[in-house]
Amino acid sequence: MGRHPAEGIDRLAEGIDRFRREVFPAKAGLFARLATTHRPRTLFIGCSDARVVPELVTQQDPGELFVIRTAGNLVPAHAPGPDGVAAGIEYAVAVLGVTDIVVCGHSACGAMTALAEGHDLTGTPALAAWLRHADASRARATTTEGEEGISALVRENVAAQLANLATHPSVARALAEGTVRLHGWVFDIPTGAVAALDTADRQGCSAA
Ligand SMILES: [Zn+2]
Repeated sequence: MGRHPAEGIDRLAEGIDRFRREVFPAKAGLFARLATTHRPRTLFIGCSDARVVPELVTQQDPGELFVIRTAGNLVPAHAPGPDGVAAGIEYAVAVLGVTDIVVCGHSACGAMTALAEGHDLTGTPALAAWLRHADASRARATTTEGEEGISALVRENVAAQLANLATHPSVARALAEGTVRLHGWVFDIPTGAVAALDTADRQGCSAA
């Protein structure tokens, strides 16, 4: 790709130096408290996309968001067997006791674009298999083409993943007990706007 690996890691090292020097001192008290406390209120499930940074967009401090990021912000429905996403959800809900769960999609999502435009994914079989978790999203989205088609799929995918989320026993239990609320959001990269999906008609979901 014409990129030199050392340049990327050098930039990280410079960032760590700057963090220790310019950022950490002002938050030393917070980090001292966090050293022994982990009580986030929100589970944030977003896309792995480098442009969608949960703590930046929501202006949350360290310790406030429990974050799971996957390609396409997909949440596999509950199934037996080891599953890193399911384990993270269960830990956040059953152990940490988060009160809100956000599933956040975004504009220009590579995963949603690949699905909407029917890209050939035979060269990336793991990605192709993973994107099957968006089958319901595709079924929900209308057959609109182009940009509007991708936007529609991004929105329907958030709704479909909220439904998948509710199949996890820890989430289902918390919803039944009224101790957790689900929210569907879409982040627009060029404007920085966050739109809450109208999930009022979907059981167990509420708008942000
Ligand atoms: Zn994405």
